[in-house]
Amino acid sequence: MTPRRARGAPQDDARPLTEPVEDYLKAIYAIEQSGEAAGTSDLATRLEIAPASVSGMVRRLADQGLVSYERYRGVRLTDAGRRAALRTIRRHRVIESYLAKALGYAWDRVHAEAERLEHAASDELVDRMAEAIGEPLTDPHGDPIPTRDGVIDETRHQRLSDLAAGQRSRVKRVSDDDGELLRYLAQIGIRPGVMVTVAERAPFDGPLSLRIGKVTVQVGPVLASRVMVELLPD
Ligand SMILES: [Zn+2]
Repeated sequence: MTPRRARGAPQDDARPLTEPVEDYLKAIYAIEQSGEAAGTSDLATRLEIAPASVSGMVRRLADQGLVSYERYRGVRLTDAGRRAALRTIRRHRVIESYLAKALGYAWDRVHAEAERLEHAASDELVDRMAEAIGEPLTDPHGDPIPTRDGVIDETRHQRLSDLAAGQRSRVKRVSDDDGELLRYLAQIGIRPGVMVTVAERAPFDGPLSLRIGKVTVQVGPVLASRVMVELLPD
């Protein structure tokens, strides 16, 4: 049987993309958001694959009009590539939110499920999930959820590890892909919305002493670099 598109179904530019293509576009988007041009070696690291296979895929993505590639400027998403990346990111973040809010999953367990389901869920299912939990603006880790029209809040935040002693901040987002890290953050009370003050910091990349509510905890700079914050006035 030939697949048919139901009448009235959203057309988008959605010929379905393969799972690896969606993962590449997501990775390129993430690198662009960190303010850098995506080189093939960055992509290889992020996707945990050999740099040689990245070049072939980048060529194919360019042929499909999803990225542009220049030797010294790296890989960039075209408008179509960006729309496709944001669709996958929306599916991922809505699924994480739905698992947490509707099904009571802990925040350290939703990412792995969403990594799988983001390629399988239809946009309609994802829209219904979002509606069922009140159209959240962020996922359980504080990452912004793109609207179905591809609008997303791209405010850049500082790393907690970049704050000086005495600075007050509010947690905006935490890295979502390390379950152990998330369990530890939950234990010490770090989650989006919480206020954190850097009480002291040791020189030469030593530990930071953080005040969270009434407790003080010591964390290493690596952990602090996985927490994004918004600086608050004194
Ligand atoms: Zn995630």
